[in-house]
Amino acid sequence: MNKERKLIIAGNWKMNKTVAEALDLVRGLKIELGNVKEVDIVVCPPFTALGEVSKAILDSNIRLGAQNMSENNVGAFTGEIAAVMLKEFSVRYVILGHSERRQYQKESDALIAKKALAVHAAALKPIVCIGETLEQREKNQTQQVLETQVHGSLAGLSKEQMSETILAYEPVWAIGTGKTATTAQAQEAHAFIRGVLVKMFDDTVARKVRIQYGGSVKPSNARELMSQADVDGALVGGASLEVRSFSDIIKGSI
Ligand code: PEP
Repeated sequence: MNKERKLIIAGNWKMNKTVAEALDLVRGLKIELGNVKEVDIVVCPPFTALGEVSKAILDSNIRLGAQNMSENNVGAFTGEIAAVMLKEFSVRYVILGHSERRQYQKESDALIAKKALAVHAAALKPIVCIGETLEQREKNQTQQVLETQVHGSLAGLSKEQMSETILAYEPVWAIGTGKTATTAQAQEAHAFIRGVLVKMFDDTVARKVRIQYGGSVKPSNARELMSQADVDGALVGGASLEVRSFSDIIKGSI
């Protein structure tokens, strides 16, 4: 596929996979995807599997991501994980503000912005998730919601930091539901988000930023979604848990 920006396809494993299961999955992915150079491939296992997965993908084309990170560097924050701890496992990417964390952990745009700054301070790359709920879409509030989330979740980033930030547009109504946004809906939202980045940063930055689509991406719809001009990859949940479906999504996008 001929794209302005290199595609980045990440698997968000969420709270799935024991260490043994995680190793099975990445070993399978290494075999299937070993020759792929055209796409940046990222897997985001649960924290407990980062160490073993990190060793298993050493010297491969698969990069490691985490699903969350603390905005603090060290100290009395029970249950939290700091950047320096992720770096011990050669983590390169950190998913921030996933809709599940926004919903269940009540993460706000302001908190996500603090985390994004901490991720950059550690020379890691954030994958910042945004997206509207079904109710917001039905009330025609999609653009307003996205604009607020982009401004709030990326507040304080420099142009250089923004250029190294990945956004994931994930309509909440499409996550884990089997309902995918149409290619037209995805392209419209992605182009709108890029337009917001032009106003907030500048044209050069906006053209560099990769915006992934997420929400029930599977082998049968991935290629068409990623063929859209402003769709620069995918954040994949359910379909990233099996070697076959995740590798088919990646191979199908080349
Ligand atoms: C996700 O959680 O980021 C996601 C897109 O999930 P799914 O692909 O299962 O809809």
